Amino acid sequence: RAMLDGGNRVVFFEESMARQARQHFELAQALQAAIEQNQLRLYLQPQVNGSGVVVGAESLVRWEHPQRGLILPAEFIPVAEESRLIVALDRWMLRRTCELIAEMQRNACPLRISVNISPRHFIEAGFVDDIQRLLESSAINPSLLMLEVTESLMIRNMDDVVAKMKTISAMGVCFSIDDFGTGYSSLAYLKRLPIHELKIDQSFIRDAPADANDALLVAMIQSIATILNIETVAEGVETREHSEFLTRFPGLIQQGYLHGRPQPGTAWVKKRLEQSRTSSHAGH
Ligand code: C2E
Ligand code: MG
Ligand code: MG
Ligand code: MG
Repeated sequence: RAMLDGGNRVVFFEESMARQARQHFELAQALQAAIEQNQLRLYLQPQVNGSGVVVGAESLVRWEHPQRGLILPAEFIPVAEESRLIVALDRWMLRRTCELIAEMQRNACPLRISVNISPRHFIEAGFVDDIQRLLESSAINPSLLMLEVTESLMIRNMDDVVAKMKTISAMGVCFSIDDFGTGYSSLAYLKRLPIHELKIDQSFIRDAPADANDALLVAMIQSIATILNIETVAEGVETREHSEFLTRFPGLIQQGYLHGRPQPGTAWVKKRLEQSRTSSHAGH
């Protein structure tokens, strides 16, 4: 009956809109409390070179909900991005990432860690100062910190983005373009920006070993990176076929379930430090 009655349909529509708005509002409130009550967790996923040696890791946020258990970012990042909550979340992840970098550096086992930065956070007036203060307080080698931004950032005020990236890059911090190839920005920005790495989106990797078009795209991105003298990381490496296909490209770094799922960061770092101690003892 509601479908036939224009008036009722509007009511129905408004109710579902209101329900969605309420759900978002409740989720945002719960997330705010989660940040304050220390329910966020930093997970790390390893990145390996063609020989399988770990050369870096990516920080990925998880929400350890007291009732629901571990919640993945897909469920709360979009809501966080609608509000300023994403800034608090990213800041927390940045701080924790730097603590882990510092711990590995202190133990003579330095490793570069990438952290995702939301455009909303990047364009904040205080972003550059945040990074500066973080580098000072954590005393890390800045080149061990890599900031992942997406192409969506480039459609903002480009001059502002260029200036900020240059300032931060001059401090020694590295930049990576995440999900490269999925945005609708032009390639022109690549030569204007201090970029150290492109992350080839997993949608290109998935079928690349069999699909000639995807394989070509991967080869093309790899050549662009070689010409510009920047590193590349392939995301979503799930199978041996993926990995074997990718080893054809010299220098291409791999990240995906085949090499390791995201794991609790503190435990992962602890294990890595123990392993490095054992192997250095064995070497003497
Ligand atoms: P992303 O930065 O592109 O991260 C890669 C995503 O792919 C991660 O999902 C990771 O768990 C997943 N992944 C890794 N290997 C494989 C694989 O072999 N196969 C498949 N199918 N997936 C794989 P996750 O952790 O659920 O994060 C999703 C997205 O949420 C991230 O995509 C990133 O855009 C965002 N995100 C995560 N943590 C943060 C954060 O701290 N701050 C911000 N602003 N965004 C974050
Ligand atoms: Mg990322
Ligand atoms: Mg990505
Ligand atoms: Mg992404």
